[in-house]
Amino acid sequence: MMTDNCEYCQLAGGYGELIEETPYWMIFLAPSQRYLGTCVVALKKKRANLSEVNDAEWDDFVQIVRKMEDSVNKSFKPNLFNWSCFKNAAFRKDNDDVDPEIHWHFIPRYQETVLFCGVKFDDPDFGHIPQPIARKVSSEVMNNIKLEIKKNLLE
Ligand SMILES: [Zn+2]
Repeated sequence: MMTDNCEYCQLAGGYGELIEETPYWMIFLAPSQRYLGTCVVALKKKRANLSEVNDAEWDDFVQIVRKMEDSVNKSFKPNLFNWSCFKNAAFRKDNDDVDPEIHWHFIPRYQETVLFCGVKFDDPDFGHIPQPIARKVSSEVMNNIKLEIKKNLLE
């Protein structure tokens, strides 16, 4: 998958660490955890526009939205979820060979500071669009966030 320039996804390459996959989508824990629990939900099939997503893919996505919001509510109790599908970065290239991929940024937002695994997560941009500023946490903390989300996804 090409995610070279998407600032919301990219930190160390790709969409992040795979948490779970469904018949049509893959759920990743995003490399940057500026907003605790940030994930990427990527369509497996290459499609350029949301209007090309078929009914079976949408039905699958609806289940993911429900499960992910439910899971992260149980784990981290955010006040709000941002879902965004930008694809802007694919169009920044100099040539005409743009190659966008459908992937959703799932960004939980927090009014209060959250403590998880001894690490403080705050949301300095609460009430505004999320900022594509990387925040890396240790691989141990990443793994624990992943397990926490996955545990509730599978319930
Ligand atoms: Zn992205």
